[in-house]
Formats: sequence, structure tokens, C-alpha cells
Amino acid sequence: MSGSASPSGKKKRLLAPREEIAWFPVIDEELCNGCEACVEFCRPGVFAPGQTDAGSEVCRKPKMTVANPYNCIVLCTRCEPVCPSGAIALPPGKSFEHFVGYVD
Ligand code: SF4
Ligand code: SF4
Repeated sequence: MSGSASPSGKKKRLLAPREEIAWFPVIDEELCNGCEACVEFCRPGVFAPGQTDAGSEVCRKPKMTVANPYNCIVLCTRCEPVCPSGAIALPPGKSFEHFVGYVD
């Protein structure tokens, strides 16, 4: 997403089409408890609850899914500490810095 402000106050500009930048979270299904903290937190709407397990006798919250990966803001990592289960992982930022330019 272009035009978002960086911590330094400069605007970020993507240097490649968003769909060519594989920056988005991955959820560890084993760890996710379906609490929905991430979907409530992430304004760009990257997350969405998955299907409930219809065959299960135990009523559990559905696991979270990364429904809109390319809505994720490149180099954002804010949802990682929001997850109480440590289920969210993002790529190493260093490998993606060359995709982002900064303008005043
Ligand atoms: S890194 Fe930021 S934009 Fe991406 S899913 Fe997490 S909170 Fe949303
Ligand atoms: S915050 Fe973590 S545990 Fe809660 S739904 Fe999202 S990924 Fe799952």
C-alpha cells in the first residue's frame, strides 16, 4: 500500500507492484485459538475467521486465516505482539526494505 506514513514521518512508496511483494503474515494453525484479536486490530482487513469444523463435537472458535494478504502494509509488524498465542509470523524486514522508498 503506498502513501502510508513511516515512523520517521516520511511517506512510504512501494517500488514494485504490491502483488509482487510477498510481505504478509502467516498464521500457525496449531497455535491459533481463534480469539480474533488480530482481525479486530488490523485495519486493512488482512485477517478473516476460517470455517468452523462442522464435524467436530466440540464447539471451537474458527482458526484465523490470512484472507487478504496483499492488503498487508509492507514492513508493518504491528499484529505480531497483539496475538496472545504467538501464532502470527511476518518475514524478516531486512529482506523487504528494498521494496520501499520514502518521500517527504
Ligand atoms: S502486519 Fe500490519 S497490516 Fe499486516 S496484517 Fe499485521 S497489522 Fe495488518
Ligand atoms: S490473535 Fe492470534 S490466536 Fe487470536 S485469532 Fe489471531 S492468530 Fe489466532
